[in-house]
Amino acid sequence: MSAILGFDFGGTKLAAGIVDSDSGAVLASMRAPTPAGGAEAGMERMIELGQMLCAKHPEPISAVGVSFGGPVESDGRTVRLSMHIPGWESFPLAARCEQTFGVPARIANDADAAALAEYRFGAGHGCTHMLYMTVSTGIGGGVIINGSLHRGEHAWAGEVGHMILKPDGPACACGGNGCLESLSSGLSIARDARAQIPASLRDRDPATITARDVVTAAQAGDADARRIWEHAVGWLGIGISSACNLINPGIVVLGGGLTGAGEFLFAPLRDIMAYRVLGKAVQLKSAALGDVVGIIGGAALCIDR
Ligand SMILES: [Zn+2]
Repeated sequence: MSAILGFDFGGTKLAAGIVDSDSGAVLASMRAPTPAGGAEAGMERMIELGQMLCAKHPEPISAVGVSFGGPVESDGRTVRLSMHIPGWESFPLAARCEQTFGVPARIANDADAAALAEYRFGAGHGCTHMLYMTVSTGIGGGVIINGSLHRGEHAWAGEVGHMILKPDGPACACGGNGCLESLSSGLSIARDARAQIPASLRDRDPATITARDVVTAAQAGDADARRIWEHAVGWLGIGISSACNLINPGIVVLGGGLTGAGEFLFAPLRDIMAYRVLGKAVQLKSAALGDVVGIIGGAALCIDR
């Protein structure tokens, strides 16, 4: 076993942990708010957290890995930009971690890191090819091929949220139309519910209606909410099935806030997949690692198998 320092650098929170390279267990962890000041401020906070953790942990770390909330260049070392905070453009994050901590460093975007974490230590364990999808406010994903993270030629692989399902569909955050994210994400469900407010939510300020409210209302029997939910889940099932027909994964691991709906989400998705996926042998599983997935994912980038 060796100890790896893993960072989860998100838009609002920064978490760090010491991870056991054999088991993926998080041996110690700390978290702090993400500073708003761009790359140098973020780097400073990371160093602070990392050094505090290393001081507490007796065994020296062998590597540093970062799960970053934004696209990363195909070198696996340089941040392309942050999705949340300006000032991260083309930042050499891996090199800076190496200078600071004196060990090799690797980085990946958060969905890719989560995919690798779930593959090595979570719900994806035991297959050879895996698709990971996270469905929250947006939809992200990562692809494991032959046991390795598939980043693609220019590191854009796994962007399942931007598979184009309905070219005349709603506007998407990427600038396109009708991407899966514009049809099935938490934001798109909330958008639909604000546009046509379900009966049981009509006394609410529309601006405060969330996807969670729609799920709760649909489960309580509100037919309007149910229609919005089924529309979103229907497209999600189509999206997952299409991705399966491209990749033929053994397991699809689904994470993110929407999976809190449990079987209310998973049962209809399995029905759609049974009908749409060629070969039909793909398992659909809920992500297993919870909110330490980013820390474990950062560390997993540094474990060669
Ligand atoms: Zn898009």
